[in-house]
Amino acid sequence: MKHFPNFYEITAGSFIDLAIRYSILAGLAWVLGYVLFKHRWFHRKIIARFPSSPEVRREIGYSIMSLVIFALTGAVTIQFARMGWTQLYWRIGEHGWPWFWLSIGATILLHDTWFYWTHRLVHHRRLFRYFHRVHHLSHNPSPWAAYAFDPAEAVVQASIFPLAAIVMPLHPLAFAIFMGWQITFNILGHAGYEFHPRWLMDSWLGHVLNTPTNHIMHHEKLRGNYGLYFNVWDRLMGTNHKEYEARFREVTSRAKR
Ligand SMILES: [Zn+2]
Ligand SMILES: [Zn+2]
Repeated sequence: MKHFPNFYEITAGSFIDLAIRYSILAGLAWVLGYVLFKHRWFHRKIIARFPSSPEVRREIGYSIMSLVIFALTGAVTIQFARMGWTQLYWRIGEHGWPWFWLSIGATILLHDTWFYWTHRLVHHRRLFRYFHRVHHLSHNPSPWAAYAFDPAEAVVQASIFPLAAIVMPLHPLAFAIFMGWQITFNILGHAGYEFHPRWLMDSWLGHVLNTPTNHIMHHEKLRGNYGLYFNVWDRLMGTNHKEYEARFREVTSRAKR
C-alpha cells in the first residue's frame, strides 16, 4: 500500500527543502557580495556600507523561524487539499503542460498583487508592530533579510500557497518552481546591490520590473516602494518614493573604483 506522508512528515520535509534552498542561495549571495567581491562590486552597493554581524545574525534567526512557519503552512495546505478544499492536482496530464507553465506565471502575478496590498496594510500604524516591525529592523539589509519576518507576517506571506491553490488548478511542482523564483528574487532584492543596467530606467522595462534599489530604499526610508517583483502597482497607486528613479540613476552611473 502507498504510504501517504502525515502532517509532521510533510512539515519536516518541506522545512528541510526550503532551508536547503534558502541557505544555498542566500549563502551564495553572501559569499559573492559580502566576501569575495565586496570591493570589486562596491560601486554598485546601494547603501555604501555593510551591516554589522549582530544585525546579520538577527536576520538569520528570524528567517529560520519563518521557514518553520512556511513549512507548517505547506502542510496545512496539503490537509486542505485532502479535504477537497483546493484545486491542487497531482497528475500534470489532468490540465496539460500549457496550463502547468501558465499557472507559474499566474501565481507570480497573484503573489505580486497579494504582496503589494498586504504590505501596504501591515504598514498601517495599528498593524505595523505586530506584523512588520522585524522586517524593518534591517535598515541596510543583507541577503539573509529576505525571510526576516515577524511570525504573523510569515503567515501572511506563506498564505500565497493556499490562496493560489484555492483560486486556480495548481500542481505542487509548479508551485515549487514559483518558490524557486520567489526565493531568488527576494534574496537579490535584499542583497544590497543594483545589478540592472542604467538604461533600464529609461525604457518601458523600468516601469514594469522592480529593482533592488527600489526595495533597499524601502528599508532605508520606511515609506514608499511597496512592490515586490514588478513596479506596476507602485506606479498605478503613485507610491514610488519620489527619489527612486534619481537614486537608481545615481547608483548605476557610479564609476568603478
Ligand atoms: Zn515594509
Ligand atoms: Zn524587505
